[in-house]
Amino acid sequence: MKIAVVGAGASGLFVAGCLARNGHSVIVFDGNEKAGKKIYITGKGRCNLTNLCSPDDFLQNVVRGDKFLRSAIYNFTSQDAVDFFENLGLKTKVERGNRVFPLSDKASDVTKVLENNLCKGVEFRYNEKVLSIDVKKSQTNSFLKECDCSKDLEKSSYEETSQQNIFVIKTCNGDFLFDRVVVATGGKSYSLTGSTGDGYKFAKNFGHNIVPIKSSLCAIKLKDDFIQKLQGISLKNVSLHCDVDGKKLSYFGEMLFTDKGISGPIVLTLSSKINRAKKVDLWLDFKPALDEKQLEQRLLRDFEDNKNKDIEKVFLGLFPKAVAEIFANVVGLEKRKVNSIKKEERAKIVSTIKKFPLHFDGLYDIETAVVTSGGVDTAEINPKTFESKKVKGLYFVGEVLDVDALTGGFNLQIAWATAFSCAKNMK
Ligand SMILES: Cc1cc2nc3c(=O)[nH]c(=O)nc-3n(C[C@H](O)[C@H](O)[C@H](O)COP(=O)(O)OP(=O)(O)OC[C@H]3O[C@@H](n4cnc5c(N)ncnc54)[C@H](O)[C@@H]3O)c2cc1C
Repeated sequence: MKIAVVGAGASGLFVAGCLARNGHSVIVFDGNEKAGKKIYITGKGRCNLTNLCSPDDFLQNVVRGDKFLRSAIYNFTSQDAVDFFENLGLKTKVERGNRVFPLSDKASDVTKVLENNLCKGVEFRYNEKVLSIDVKKSQTNSFLKECDCSKDLEKSSYEETSQQNIFVIKTCNGDFLFDRVVVATGGKSYSLTGSTGDGYKFAKNFGHNIVPIKSSLCAIKLKDDFIQKLQGISLKNVSLHCDVDGKKLSYFGEMLFTDKGISGPIVLTLSSKINRAKKVDLWLDFKPALDEKQLEQRLLRDFEDNKNKDIEKVFLGLFPKAVAEIFANVVGLEKRKVNSIKKEERAKIVSTIKKFPLHFDGLYDIETAVVTSGGVDTAEINPKTFESKKVKGLYFVGEVLDVDALTGGFNLQIAWATAFSCAKNMK
C-alpha cells in the first residue's frame, strides 16, 4: 500500500519505519527542514526515551488515556522499546527512577537511528507542510484524473483498492494520493519544533471530536506579590499540597520559584492533574519530615539559642534567606525580637511552616508545556490499530491523541507504542 505519514517526529518516524519494514511504500511529510526537532530537546538534550517499568506501573503514570493505551503498552512494553533501539544500534543506559537514556547522552542519536536505520526505504519530504487531508471513494478512474497524481504515485495501486477510501494530501507542492494516512503531528507545545496543532484541524475536518487542549507538565502561576523576590530559589524536600475541586493531592520533592510562579519536578506533576480543575487551593509544607509537635520543639530550641536576636535569625535556620524574609512578613513578625514572641505567635509560625498558602493563578501557557493534554478524542479511535472509527484508512498516533503522562520517559513510550501497534495492525 501507499501510505502517507504526516509528521517526522517521534511517533511519525517510528510508524513510518515499521510500515516500510512491513513492505509498504511510505512517504513522510514534515514542515521542518529535518526530522525529530522535538526529540532533540527531550530530556534536556539527552532524550529520556522510555521508562523501564512494568506495563501496570507504566499505566499508573498515564494521566489521560490509561485504559485506551493499555493494549498498546502491553503490546510494545518499555523493555521492547529498549530492545528495539538496541537492535537499531543505539546503546542505552538506565538511570534513577528507571529512566532510559542513550549511552551517548545525545538525543540526536535517537533521531539518527530512527531516520537512518529504521526508516530504510522511506521517502522523506521535508519543508513540506501538509495543508489539508481529504478523502474520496476510489470507485472510478475519473477521481484519479481530478487530482494531479502523477507525482510519486502508481495509479495501479488505487485501481486495485477500488471501493476503498483514498486520501488526497495537499502540500505546497501539489496534491498526492494515498491508500492510508497516519497523522503523527504531535501536540501544540513548543510550536517552534513544528507541532502547531495541525492534527486537530485535520481530525476536526473528518468530524472527529477534539477534547479541549490544556498545558500539561508546566509551571504554575501564582498571584502572590512576593514571587518576584523569590525568583530562582529552589527548595528541596518540601511537600506541595493541593485541594483540587475537593480532592486532595500532595507531592514531595523539589521545586523552584520562577518569574510568575513555581516550577520544578513536583510542580510539573501537579500541573498535569489540575489543568481541568475549577477550584485549586495550594499550600506548601516547608518541613514535611517534622510534625507540628516536633517542629514546635525545634522552634523552642532555636528560640532559646537566639533569645535576644531578631526572629529573622531563627527563620534563616529554617529557610533560604529570601524565603526567611518573606516568611517573617507573611506571619506578621518582621523585626520582632525572639524574646517578645508570644505562644500564639509561635503556634502561628508552626502552622504557617506546615501550611504556607500559595495563591493559584492558572498554568503557564501551552507553548511552554512539556506535553499537551487533550486532543483527538480516543473514544473515536480503535485502541489496537489507532484507526479512526469514523474514516477507514485514517490513523492517529502519538501526542495528537487525547493522551498524556508524567515525566520519566512515559510520553515518548506512548509515541513508540502507539506507532508500533498502528504499523503492526494496519490492514
Ligand atoms: C522540552 C521537552 C522535553 C521533553 N522531554 C521528554 C523526555 O525526556 N521523555 C519523554 O518521554 N517525553 C519528553 N517530551 C515529550 C515528547 O517529546 C513528546 O510527547 C513526543 O515528541 C510526541 O511525539 P509525536 O510524534 O506525537 O509529536 P512530535 O515529536 O511533536 O512530532 C510532530 C511532528 O509533526 C510535524 N508536523 C506538525 N504539523 C505538520 C503538518 N501540517 N505537516 C507536516 N508536518 C507536521 C512537526 O513538524 C513535528 O516534526 C518532552 C517534550 C518537550 C517539549
